[in-house]
Order: sequence, then C-alpha cells, then structure tokens
Amino acid sequence: MVRPVNTPSRAVSSTELYLRLLRYVRPYRHVFVVAILGAILVALTEAALPAIMKPLFDGVFVERDAAAIRWMPLIIIGLFVVRGLAEYAASYCMAWVSNRLVMDLRTQMFARLLELPTPYYDDQASGNLISKLTFDVTQVTSAATSVLVAIFKDGVAIIGLLSWMFWLNWKLTLLSLLMTPLIVLIVRLVSVRLRNSSRDVQKSMGEVTQVIQEAIEGHKIVKLYGGQAYESGRFEQQTNHVRRYLMKQAAAAATSVPFVQLVAASALAAMIFFATQDASITVGSFVSFLTAMLMLTAPLKRITSVNEPLQRGLAAAESVFALLDQPGEADTGQQNIDRANGELVFENISLRYDGAEHPALDNISLRIAPGETVALVGASGAGKSTVANLVPCFYRPTSGRITLDGHDLAELKLASLRANIALVSQDVVLFNDTVAANIAYGAMKSVGQAQIQAAADAAHASEFINQMPQGFATVVGENGVKLSGGQRQRLAIARALLKNAPVLVLDEATSALDSESERHVQAALEALIKGRTTLVIAHRLSTVENADRIVVLDKGRIVEVGTHRELLALGRIYSKLYQIQFSVQQSTQVRDAAA
Ligand code: ADP
Repeated sequence: MVRPVNTPSRAVSSTELYLRLLRYVRPYRHVFVVAILGAILVALTEAALPAIMKPLFDGVFVERDAAAIRWMPLIIIGLFVVRGLAEYAASYCMAWVSNRLVMDLRTQMFARLLELPTPYYDDQASGNLISKLTFDVTQVTSAATSVLVAIFKDGVAIIGLLSWMFWLNWKLTLLSLLMTPLIVLIVRLVSVRLRNSSRDVQKSMGEVTQVIQEAIEGHKIVKLYGGQAYESGRFEQQTNHVRRYLMKQAAAAATSVPFVQLVAASALAAMIFFATQDASITVGSFVSFLTAMLMLTAPLKRITSVNEPLQRGLAAAESVFALLDQPGEADTGQQNIDRANGELVFENISLRYDGAEHPALDNISLRIAPGETVALVGASGAGKSTVANLVPCFYRPTSGRITLDGHDLAELKLASLRANIALVSQDVVLFNDTVAANIAYGAMKSVGQAQIQAAADAAHASEFINQMPQGFATVVGENGVKLSGGQRQRLAIARALLKNAPVLVLDEATSALDSESERHVQAALEALIKGRTTLVIAHRLSTVENADRIVVLDKGRIVEVGTHRELLALGRIYSKLYQIQFSVQQSTQVRDAAA
C-alpha cells in the first residue's frame, strides 16, 4: 500500500523511531544529563552577558560606582570561567554518549549481519549494507544527541534572553519581535532563490563538463570532420549559462543584505525613538537590550533549522533499525549430533527462489552413501549450486526433505549440522590474517601448530607457505591478493582438511590453472575427498571421471545418473556436455603434458 508522506501514522512512526533511538541512550543517561545540564548552564551564561551590560554601563561608566568598578572585571572573568567549564562538560559528555551510541549500534548491526540468512545477502547490494554500518549509523547521533542539546541549549538561551528583554522593557521587546518575521521572511525568500540557482549552476556546470569531455575524447572526429566551430559554439553557450546563473545567485545574495540591513536599521531607529521617549531607559539598559537582541539571532536561527539534522538522523535511524529488525537465520532445530557417518539423502526436493518464475530444483531425489563422491554436472543454471547450498542449509527447500544419517536437516541445530560439513568453493575466501589463522579459521582457532602444519602438508601447501617471508605467520593481505589462484585453493583445501568433517561440498574452480598448480591442487583434492561424503560441482575432467557417480542436472531435474563410462555409453546429455565442456580441458591438459 502506498501511503502519502506526512500522514499522521507517519508522524507516529517518527515518534516511535525517536523513542526507540532514545532507548539506546538510556544506559548512558547519567552522562547525558550532565551534558544537558552543561548546555543549560551555557545558555544561562549567554543570557547573563546582556544582563551584566546594564550595571556595567550604568554603574561603571555613568555613575562611576567604586564597587562596580572593582567587581565588574572579576564578574566577567568568572562568568566566562563558568561558561567554559559548562561548555567543556556539555561537549565532552555529548561526544561520549554519541560515540557510545554509534559503537553499540554498530556492534549490534555487525552481530546481526553475521546471523542474516543467505537470501538476504542475495537481495542487498553489499555497498548498501556497508554504508549502513559505516555512514548511516553516524548520522543517527545527530538526531539522538546533538538535536536535543541544541533544543535545550538554544531553547533556554532564547527564553532567558527574551525574559531579560521583557523585564528591561516589554514595549521595546514587542516592537523588536514585530520586526523579526519580516527579516525571517526575507532570508527565507533569498535562500530559496539561492538554493534554486545553485542547482541551476550545478546542472549547467555538468553540461560544460560534458562538452569538454566530448571534445577531448572525440578530438580525432572533431578534427577530421571540422567540428571546431560547432564545439566552440556549444562550449560558449554552456559557459554563458553558467555565467548567467552565477550572476542571478550573486544578485539574490547582494539584494538580501541591504534589505535585511534596512529592516534592521528601521527597527533600531524605531527603538531609539521609543527609548528616547521613555525616561526610565538608561544607557545601560539600552545597551543591554541591544546586546540581548543581537545575541538572540544565533540560537533562533539554529533552533529553526533543527529539523534538518533531525530528519536526516531519523532517516538514518530508520535504515539502521531496518537492519537490526531483520530476522536472523531460522535455527529451529533442536537436535545435536556428533560426528556423522555421512549418509546424505535428498527426498523429493524442490526449490523455487523468491520471485522466480520456474523452480530452480524440481523434485530431486538422491541418496549419497557415506564416503561416496557424487559429481554434479549440468549446463550453467541447471541447479548444481542450488543443490550444494541446500546441504549446509544456506537455503531451505520449498518442499521435500534432506536427511543426514537419517536426521532431517530441519530438525538439527545449525551449528551441529555445519560442524559436520566442510566447504571448498570456487571463490576462495581468505581473511586478512596470517596463513595459519586462515587455515585454522573460526572454531578451529585453538588447534596446535603441528595440526595446521599437517593439514598444509596434506594440501600440498607447505612448500609455498615455507617460501613466504614469515612462513605460516605471513599475513596474506586483503582476500589473499598476494597469492596465486592455485595457492589460494590449496589453502582452502588445507582449511577443509583441518576441519576434517565427514561431509564435503566442493565447488571446483572453473579458472584454468597452469599444469604444475593443477597437479598440486589435484593431489590435494584427492587427499581431501578420501573417506568423505563428497558432493562436487565438477569442472575438472579428472574429478568427473573419478567420481563414484555422476548426476546430470537439467533445468532443476535429475536427467541422468551413472558412472563416467556408463553415461558416455548412454550417449545422451552427459556425453554431449562432456564433449563441449571437458574435451577443451582435455586438449589443454594433453598440450600441457606434452610441453
Ligand atoms: P548452476 O550452479 O548449475 O549454474 P544454480 O543453482 O546457480 O545453477 O542456478 C539454478 C537457477 O536458479 C538459475 O536459473 C539461477 O538463475 C537461479 N538462482 C540461483 N541462485 C539464485 C538466487 N540466489 N536467487 C534467485 N535465483 C537464483
């Protein structure tokens, strides 16, 4: 349902949003109160400044009162000492609360991020998620903290200053207040014009850039086809637009100043006139009044523009809470299992992704015996990855069930299920940490160096690791950019070997490796597959040939099952796929072997 903006329900949700935000400030309310009190104190000293103008002028300068002359400098210094301390307390405490708030929100968001289900990641641009955690969250604080301080501080300052002015002379105050709307109106009108014309300037600057860019990139065409005059004409026209808009802007800005000054001067003139009519007004009270009036403008301006940071903050809060409110991965299973034997059964599995027209998997049934290696083969989009993703419950089937050793996956605790599965995927994920920490990742953090070494040996990775500057202690760099494709794969294999899970999901890399690397990776994979139930999305000829069984998928259905020989003999889909997909590989391998 499309709801128009600014309906009452929207207002309610803004309030709710705000109250929810304030709940995050609650644990720090003591510090927050100090900040508010500091702000109020600052505001009071603000009002005190015009207030001491009166005794200063009347006492010190007009009457030359000895006590006033002695005390006044001390009072001024004292006032600013108090103000300084209050200002410090307010700023410091507010920054403290703000930064705590950002940290708390970030921590919660990150924790939530780690729990989100895989389909959520599919729908979100990662840049969007990252900017929620880095940028949006910092915008929230403006609404939660600084706006409140502004309201308290400026509110109290306005009330204080106005009260003082009324107390001094209510008629003059009313008179000056009458002028205010006029000034505000002029400033508004001008700023609207300014904003519009800066938009125009930006737009025509964009067009100028466009002409320049075209002239640079197309300089050969311009020369060959004699387009110089045409381009110069276009350029002149656009730069003239920019000039005209800039002049409009300058004119608007230039007219506003004299207008505002004229209004202000008239107000001043009127006040001087009234002040001279009224015998009770002394030099001191008039100066004091003027000071208060001038000091009123800054907080008035701030408090009327408080809406902008508030709205910005609330918009950011909405985005932050949207992430926090995302339900995490459903982990409804109750059962824990120890190490599984590895019998994996798919019973009538169908899966249709959200919003997809056709099911990605259509009634798949397959039993994989403990220790068996099953290769999934099929054209791109046939559903191979989808099958593989169902095993660790990254996605849930729309219908049907999968069992591990007879336990329905839906009834197992996710952690318990996933402890039984190792994954080696095409895009090897490495973290910006040491080689050792990348192999012994996550729950395997505390294993000993000897075990890591053994896993690396079995993965044929020790040789290149030992050649690295600090061996196992070398930091691999962001996502392992310093490593070759084959080395990254062997690290991933070492990680899986160390995990030593009974079930292995293997999404082989499609990218061609040189034959030396290929041999190492192949040997490492053989070590990894041995004794495990393995579901492999096969891109390598050798894995397909050596698999116990090959399952051929087509449009989400199992169309052929058998060994390499059987399926070749059948002469149907697999044999065609084999010719297209794998014969190229075979010829490169033959060539490499010959070389
Ligand atoms: P394969 O691994 O065999 O190339 P996939 O399992 O990746 O095939 O894809 C099977 C079908 O499901 C394709 O039509 C693909 O477009 C679709 N698909 C895959 N992943 C998603 C997803 N996360 N969301 C929606 N549709 C998807």
